Amino acid sequence: MNNLLETPIEYLKGVGPARGEQLRKELGIFKYADLLNLFPNRYIDRTRYYRINELTNSGAEVQVVGKVINIKTVGDKRTRLVATFTDGTGEMELVWFQGQKWIRENLKLNVPYVIFGKATAFNGLFNMAHPEMEPLAEHEASLRSAMQPIYPSTEKLTQRGITNKVVNKMMQQLFTETQALFTDSLPASIINELQLIPKNAALFNIHFPKSQELLAKAQFRLKFEELFFIQLQLITKNLVRKHKIKGHPFGNVGEYFTTFYNNHLPFDLTGAQKRVLKEIRNDMGQAAQMNRLLQGDVGSGKTIVALMSMLLALDNGFQACLMAPTEILANQHFIGLSELAAPLGINIKILTGSTKTSERRIIHEALEDGSLHIIIGTHALLEDKVQFKNLGLAIIDEQHRFGVEQRSKLWQKNEIPPHVLVMTATPIPRTLAMSLYGDLDVSVIDELPPGRKPIQTVHRFDSNRLKVWKFLKDEIAKGRQIYIVYPLIQESEKMDYKDLMDGYESISRDFPLPQYSVSIVHGQMKPADKDSEMARFSAGKTNIMVATTVIEVGVNVPNASVMVIESAERFGLSQLHQLRGRVGRGADQSYCILMTGQKLSNDSKLRMETMVRTNDGFEIAEVDLKLRGPGDIMGKQQSGVLNLQIADIVKDKEILLIAREQAIKLLKDDAPMARPEHAALRHAYIEMTKKKNIWNYIS
Ligand code: ADP
Ligand code: MG
Repeated sequence: MNNLLETPIEYLKGVGPARGEQLRKELGIFKYADLLNLFPNRYIDRTRYYRINELTNSGAEVQVVGKVINIKTVGDKRTRLVATFTDGTGEMELVWFQGQKWIRENLKLNVPYVIFGKATAFNGLFNMAHPEMEPLAEHEASLRSAMQPIYPSTEKLTQRGITNKVVNKMMQQLFTETQALFTDSLPASIINELQLIPKNAALFNIHFPKSQELLAKAQFRLKFEELFFIQLQLITKNLVRKHKIKGHPFGNVGEYFTTFYNNHLPFDLTGAQKRVLKEIRNDMGQAAQMNRLLQGDVGSGKTIVALMSMLLALDNGFQACLMAPTEILANQHFIGLSELAAPLGINIKILTGSTKTSERRIIHEALEDGSLHIIIGTHALLEDKVQFKNLGLAIIDEQHRFGVEQRSKLWQKNEIPPHVLVMTATPIPRTLAMSLYGDLDVSVIDELPPGRKPIQTVHRFDSNRLKVWKFLKDEIAKGRQIYIVYPLIQESEKMDYKDLMDGYESISRDFPLPQYSVSIVHGQMKPADKDSEMARFSAGKTNIMVATTVIEVGVNVPNASVMVIESAERFGLSQLHQLRGRVGRGADQSYCILMTGQKLSNDSKLRMETMVRTNDGFEIAEVDLKLRGPGDIMGKQQSGVLNLQIADIVKDKEILLIAREQAIKLLKDDAPMARPEHAALRHAYIEMTKKKNIWNYIS
């Protein structure tokens, strides 16, 4: 039976070469199986029949049974065809502008028809333009069901006459030719436990639903199956990695770690930091490569976790590196880590694009002879010249900015790859993380260090600028510093720079020297100028930092307590959240002020409300996911994983959780799927992985 599903689509009766070509081109349907898996986007409920005297809502889609009692052409130049339709309770008009000849020739008078369409009231009479209609006898005999499926389509297909109705006919033909015998590949245990309907019934009811209830069951079954197979693949990959990819087992907790932990911890670790460190220690203690994603909101304290993980590597005689996406960030890590590690006498250095050649040479040598323990840097670390004596741990900050190939370069430097820890401050909603990184291990720091005052966020319209400026002056009078950020979107870069410069000028006017001093930093400045301006602000020499989103990542000025975001409606949620994270780093109450114009789209309003309501990065990420959809958030390259036939990662979260749980359970029990009761599953799994190889950023 399954071979039949491999039949090229043009062999299906009613398709043929021309339509086959269109189906291939427009919908990627090559064979029977592809058509079978073309699932409807939605359904029109045709379970209900209306009587004409029941019609009340103009514009509602309704279905009526009745007869055409007369038909006539109306108008002179641009004619239309008008028929009187009655069901005994009343009359309505059916109208055609196109295809009049065909209707005239084929429509039968005084024969019961089922009509369906939008009924519009006009002068006390309901009319329906271009109704779908079918003789009642045919309607009752057809396989088509009361819930009418609407299939994905394209303009071209409709133009070429492959309408929804035609697709529906093809589907009927497919079910007839295959006798609707489709193999069930899920094991009986899962089918029983979740009370899933059989595969045959599911496929039948997804295309020809008998009732709302059966449709819901069919959808659940097929969504579950789709997500289950993806989870099987992701989890299998994880298991394989743990078994096959060798790693350095860091068995020792030695001098560096212990000394630091006992004598030099600048604060007590939070519960979350302790838990995450344990997870990392556990991973690195194995002879398999660690591949762990560490998520923690801005300010949650990832740096110390990074350092202590590096100390473990050092304790076991290995080197460690930390790679950051920008020079500013790399510098900040270098300063922060050097400070923390100062009492340990570790050799730490930084390597970026602006490292001098002489210094570079020293670094290269020290990395090769092992006298340099920790190197921090930008993608300059990826250059071929950079060779390690024995790199044991690679930490990557802000995963979104590095590609896969770039990353794997880091560990091609060694025969046995280093453990990898990816840190990100952009929380990824749990469901998404599970689908995209299902084969990675994820740690979450979900607790902020104690004593932080939550940042207060407000939304203000541009018309209230005077009040906002007054507030800023009060804060400056208290000794605080302020960021004012302007959007910079590549497509409108020129305009944005103009806005930035105009803003800078007017701010300089409103906050004049000598009482105030204003810094500016943006992407068109030379790195050296940028750095020196940043340094002035850091040192408290200026009160206000006007900037584009360059400061988005990695600036740490604890005394800066106010973040003003101009044209906040132009920023996405995650970016707003990142920017807000630049303040709230000191002991003082911090504020974030979102400035927008008066007129806002609904989405923009929701973004502002969300920012005002919560500081929780995960909650914000969930809203963001709902607003933008998964494809947008993870970028095009990820959409392969997200290219789902029927399930929706956002809407079907519950099903995803069940699918993951079931996949874990099954693989724990029978990882190779070798048991006889898993034979069909294994077969389907192999077929699926041939087609759809899910990869992720890190592996
Ligand atoms: P992240 O990199 O996650 O944004 P950092 O590691 O830079 O956060 O930490 C933010 C600030 O919080 C730093 O000033 C750090 O010293 C401080 N910090 C981190 N962990 C703790 C803790 N457990 N207790 C108190 N302060 C902490
Ligand atoms: Mg950080």
